[in-house]
Amino acid sequence: MMVQFLEIKEQHKDALLFYRMGDFYELFFDDAQAAAAALDIALTKRGKHLGEDIAMCGVPHHAAEGYLLTLIRKGFRVAICEQMERPEEAKKRGHKAVVKRDVVRLVTPGTLTEDSLLDARAHNFLCAYGEVRGEGALAWVDVSTGAFWVSPITRLRLGPLLARIAPREVLLGHGLCEDLRPTVEEMGSVVTPLSDASFDSAGAQARLNAAFSTASLDGFGQFSKAELGAMGAVLEYLELTQRGQIPHLSPPRQEHPGAVVRLDAATRRNLEITRALSGGRAGSLLDAVDRTLTGPGGRLLEQRLTAPTTDLAQITARLDAIEWCLSEAGASVHLREVLRGVPDMERALQRLSLDRGGPRDLAALRQALAQAADLSGRLPKDAPSAIAQAQDSLRGHEALRDLLDSALVAEPPILARDGGFIAQGYAPELDEARTLRDEGRSVIAQMQARYQDKAGVGALKIKHNNVLGYFIETPATHKDHMLGEAMAEMFIHRQTTANQLRFTTLELSELETKILNAASHALELEKALFATLRTAVLERIGPLAQAARALAELDVAAAWADLALDREWCRPDLDNSRQFKITKGRHPGVEAALAREGTAFVPNSCDLSADDEGATPLWLMTGPNMAGKSTFLRQNALIALLAQAGAFVPAEAAHIGVVDQIFSRVGAADDLARGRSTFMVEMVETAAILNQAGPGALVILDEIGRGTATYDGLSIAWATLEHLHDQNRCRTLFATHYHELTALTERLGGLATASVAVKECENEVIFLHEVRAGTADRSYGVQVAKLAGLPEVVTARAAEVLKTLETGAERPTSQTLLDDLPLFTATPTAPPPPPKSDVVQDRLAEVLPDTLTPREALDLVYELKALLDEG
Ligand code: ATP
Repeated sequence: MMVQFLEIKEQHKDALLFYRMGDFYELFFDDAQAAAAALDIALTKRGKHLGEDIAMCGVPHHAAEGYLLTLIRKGFRVAICEQMERPEEAKKRGHKAVVKRDVVRLVTPGTLTEDSLLDARAHNFLCAYGEVRGEGALAWVDVSTGAFWVSPITRLRLGPLLARIAPREVLLGHGLCEDLRPTVEEMGSVVTPLSDASFDSAGAQARLNAAFSTASLDGFGQFSKAELGAMGAVLEYLELTQRGQIPHLSPPRQEHPGAVVRLDAATRRNLEITRALSGGRAGSLLDAVDRTLTGPGGRLLEQRLTAPTTDLAQITARLDAIEWCLSEAGASVHLREVLRGVPDMERALQRLSLDRGGPRDLAALRQALAQAADLSGRLPKDAPSAIAQAQDSLRGHEALRDLLDSALVAEPPILARDGGFIAQGYAPELDEARTLRDEGRSVIAQMQARYQDKAGVGALKIKHNNVLGYFIETPATHKDHMLGEAMAEMFIHRQTTANQLRFTTLELSELETKILNAASHALELEKALFATLRTAVLERIGPLAQAARALAELDVAAAWADLALDREWCRPDLDNSRQFKITKGRHPGVEAALAREGTAFVPNSCDLSADDEGATPLWLMTGPNMAGKSTFLRQNALIALLAQAGAFVPAEAAHIGVVDQIFSRVGAADDLARGRSTFMVEMVETAAILNQAGPGALVILDEIGRGTATYDGLSIAWATLEHLHDQNRCRTLFATHYHELTALTERLGGLATASVAVKECENEVIFLHEVRAGTADRSYGVQVAKLAGLPEVVTARAAEVLKTLETGAERPTSQTLLDDLPLFTATPTAPPPPPKSDVVQDRLAEVLPDTLTPREALDLVYELKALLDEG
């Protein structure tokens, strides 16, 4: 057995080998050590290898999924090695023969399909990045749903794209591993190296054609060699990990650069699109706006938020669908009621396609299709295109639904393994087998009654013993009758005892075999029926996947409508202009958080529209700390993002010329793990904006330069503002505490100032959160510090220093400005106390310590103490 284990292990060195032995998966050697530590389970020993104890640990087969989840989360890959025959079959080859085993699947983070291993509301992407003659491409696939995408991409843009997709696993050719591993790992993904040959475009073409049963890929689009290579690598890896079972994949969809709003990793983080800065989903935009009711709906909504589109037609279609839901309130409420109970058809389909599904997955389809039929029947014919298309996809599945309906019991088990899922009355042969299995005795009793009639012998019995099995017995007194010609045709004589005659019939021996085999026969029949049902599903997998997608579409549209109605969001008006006019906009997250505390959010308008002369529209925001500048900046970026995701927006009105990039530099965070200080992070992010933002971009910048000395910071902010205005020429919101920057309004044509208002009342500030034109008079930093609970002595001292600086008595000169010294040279509050009397010091100066006796020394101490007391 160890020989077999080592042979198999040799082929899967980079994975933990789950080696099936009866009801357990056992792990040996280093695998056992690693798994025992990771799973916190007992490590034992089993036999010796080359004189050393063999370490071993094991997990029960029925509970393996939970252990797998832990191992995958901890970054392991697991090879599942099953027994490929029953021990009895092995024994036929000789009593020492080892049961045949083989790896049936490699479980890796990017290839999961089990619900228990996946987040129902998030995609689980596997990516492959390849390059051919300097051109790069990324392919990404979600094995659990079949979504398959590819896009040409430069190395520079790879990081942002990975930040968007957030894959669990990225495949790289060995040649690229070294260069790109940090980029991938920075996104929290695992790198899986493949041979460079896996990215070969010629091989890829053949693989793709085989996977999609096509002769040419032209129908899917024109792909570059790099794109083909990346897609081919994905397929090869799926073949490898699924051991030849390729899951159902939708035809590859090509994403053209520019089709999606560009957001880099920092912007995504700062805008807290899917994750809050604190790390979790709670507090993110997604969390605040997601009202979908199904897993696929949740995934689609997340995908739209993470990849807002620049395609006006697509945005309009999505908005039309929401508007329709709002106008057809009755239909929309019904829609959501039905959707609430729709199971995750996408994932059920994928498991079935990988032959990893069970009866519960078939039942999920049955239910989803019934609900789909209900919905399509109620949706009107004249709905907007997105709804009408969804309606089309929901139709035409009646035959399959009826089949599943008649074939399955109401609540089937998860696995086909133990049977019990085919409904009574669906397959007569199965019913018979089950009847025999469950009611063997009563079938015999019925037969006995029949035979008694036939033979005319009331004392005839059917009995069972271990030698004869089932037999018919009559008292010997009926000998002549029973052995007579009439009966001999039917009853075959087996034995005569002193008092009894024993017979069998063809029917009884057949029945006997049937009873004996009934249980396993019933199970085999059910398994065969499961396979037939699975085939029936797979024959329609394309349309079924479309129906699943349609349900997700409807879920998203109805969810956005529900939110818009509830929170009074409006339909944004989008076009190809360079407008950006938001009337009474709100921040979705902050508004919801304030609402929970019973506080109202103050809506604010923003107008960054380019004027006729083409001057760059740029708002310079000043205002006290805590007034709401960051909130205002973020809310405008989020409104643009929501609008282009195809959603309504938290505003009274919004007119947005399509944005092709959003950049945000908000808040401070250091990145010590990568050796970057807070200021360094800020500068890296600012550099990215200045180097990349084009005229179609929307940029929000918050307090650039605050992480360094005042005048260094001011100078950087100054130059950044000028560059954005003159070179990038993009719509920009720029918040700052450097009031000096407002001087630039005179020189920069499109620059307007705005500030967030506060009221000062008895030395306290009251935040009004209202954005108004003009400049703030001051920052009220000290008052805010007081609110934050800084010790009073510190805020009092700060107020004093501030006053000195502001009155101009210590106005910084050019010399002191260089290093911010004025703060340290401000007049101290009290002069230092005058020096104390010097008598003790004088007396000590006279003493020659080496000449003193111990007694004299002691006297001197008394003398000095007395002098001190007198002084
Ligand atoms: P700082 O300059 O200190 O970074 P800021 O001006 O950027 O402060 P924000 O962080 O945007 O201030 O907002 C501070 C708090 O004020 C928010 O957490 C929120 O509770 C509240 N707030 C912001 N905007 C509004 C608004 N429009 N209506 C009501 N409350 C608001």
